[in-house]
Amino acid sequence: MFKDEFKNLTIHQARELLDSKEISSKELTTVFLERIESVDQLTNSYISVTGEFALEQAGFADEKIKNGNQSFLTGIPMQLKDNMSTKGIKTTCASKMLENYIPSYNCTVAQRLFSEGAILLGKGNLDEFAMGSSTENSYFHSTANPWDLEKVPGGSSGGPAAAVSADECLFSLGSDTGGSIRQPASFCGVVGMKPTYGLVSRFGLIAFASSLDQIGPITKDVQDCAIVLESISGYDSKDSTSIKNTHQDYVANLKTDISGMKLGIPKEYFPEGMDESVKKLVYQAIEEFKKLGVEIQEVSLPHTDYALAVYYIIAPSEAAANLARYDGVKFGFSSKGNLEDIFDDIETTREGGFGQEVQRRIMMGTYALSAGYYDAYYLKAQKIRTIIRNEFNQVFKDVDALITPTAPTVAFNLGDVIDPLQMYLNDVFTQPANIAGLPSISIPCGISEGLPVGLQLMAAPLNDSNVLKLAYAYEQSTGWHDLKSPIAKGI
Ligand code: GLN
Repeated sequence: MFKDEFKNLTIHQARELLDSKEISSKELTTVFLERIESVDQLTNSYISVTGEFALEQAGFADEKIKNGNQSFLTGIPMQLKDNMSTKGIKTTCASKMLENYIPSYNCTVAQRLFSEGAILLGKGNLDEFAMGSSTENSYFHSTANPWDLEKVPGGSSGGPAAAVSADECLFSLGSDTGGSIRQPASFCGVVGMKPTYGLVSRFGLIAFASSLDQIGPITKDVQDCAIVLESISGYDSKDSTSIKNTHQDYVANLKTDISGMKLGIPKEYFPEGMDESVKKLVYQAIEEFKKLGVEIQEVSLPHTDYALAVYYIIAPSEAAANLARYDGVKFGFSSKGNLEDIFDDIETTREGGFGQEVQRRIMMGTYALSAGYYDAYYLKAQKIRTIIRNEFNQVFKDVDALITPTAPTVAFNLGDVIDPLQMYLNDVFTQPANIAGLPSISIPCGISEGLPVGLQLMAAPLNDSNVLKLAYAYEQSTGWHDLKSPIAKGI
């Protein structure tokens, strides 16, 4: 195998080569650092690259492997989205507010991955504070889609999805509040999973909307996704919403038979006027599931239409509360005012440190939470959230999982979507899973006009294994995940 081909590997393939000592983690890490050096100028998927730290970690990983102490991710080079706190390493959230912020601790997922011996190559680009669907809201730069550099990679985990699609790391972690792992995975032709709410610790993830945020894997195939989920999931006393006794053997369960499982098609997720080519590919996938012995049934989730409105009240409300801490007093950007009027200082700090979209969300949330409007907006949204959740619970009595498109379209041109409302429509199929806390995955299901299309699978809370094994069976029988972006193919 040529050294240059190592970048094409999946985690499970790299594991074999590391264990058989055909390659060392140091060599593998060097391949990726060189790869980033040569192609990241095209994709701009990284905010920072941590080369020295990576090589140091690789040295420790090689020791571990030599002593036979390795596990799945020992010596595997990865990226982390730049809203996950890393000790001693800048964590910017793609915001001017945190441009120079260096955390003094690791988030739980980084801690787990580091103790397993995974290698941090650098931090991935995102929409500022994870608010957006195109990664164009990053304070630093936008990211390009490796399938077509004129297109967006999706967002907010656009950096992670593009980096995996361009072979600039073996895997990355994204965060998903309304679709931010799955929509970019769909746009970049990779696998992205939002686990059940509470399965993966949020400790040290810079908060956007705490009742919706969840960290998850972005990988080249479903097997890698299960491997990463197994490493990062599990109870954490530092996150009060973390669920106890959740351990499932995601990797071992992956290959169990899916025939006889029931898959529901929610008719509200295939509305009139949606992109016909996306619809067609998802229907082809449904045929493929039939061939695999899966029973298909049409179902209805009548309140789906309200989900987007519910999301855009609850998420900004929580964001307004979470982002109140950025006042320029203790950390982050400060306008360094004259300190004669503290309110004036806070105002200029927040006006100067936050980008337009973040300011818009804070204003929407503050409005929805203010006296007089709270009952009409926030409280009502919470009530509808409960209805949506109950509707899913009801449907999951009849079917094991649901299949839908991940996003209504393929990747659009950079700079094309300037209307915020039009941007918000990108999440229409993904945010219900956040509202209800469901596990949900996006996997490639074909190509339309040269760009990847993703399908979404959702299941009842804690049925992450079902989602993974359905996705795995489909992937193995179709091979869509094997299609590489032009950047990965070296074109
Ligand atoms: N695009 C959605 C938003 O802007 C979702 C973002 C996310 O999941 N972090 O809110």
